[in-house]
Amino acid sequence: MNQVNDVKRLKQLRKMLEDERRLLINGIQQHSLAGIDAHGDLVDQSTDLSEREQMMGLEERDRQRLMDIEAAIAKIDQGDYGVCSMCAEPIPLERLKAIPSAELCVKCKQVAERDAWV
Ligand SMILES: [Zn+2]
Repeated sequence: MNQVNDVKRLKQLRKMLEDERRLLINGIQQHSLAGIDAHGDLVDQSTDLSEREQMMGLEERDRQRLMDIEAAIAKIDQGDYGVCSMCAEPIPLERLKAIPSAELCVKCKQVAERDAWV
């Protein structure tokens, strides 16, 4: 494995994840605004609750993705990201883009699923 290339590709991926995180957070804020419009003066009476309710109202998929991205960025910063935890081979960048939380390469994932480890 070429160390320089690996650092470079993780930097690229990190930037990409940060961009996507920003988009997701913008999406959450838009959800919040839409929520205020829809609920009208109800929101005014429960300001303390509204933020949590808006988070609850956010699509599960988006929240999950945001958590995956934040975990991935933290892992990149720790320097133990992008390597398969079973065979220690680098996980292809395309796979990491699709599933930021991927810890196994496709081959190991298939083995793990077949043997019901995950
Ligand atoms: Zn593997």
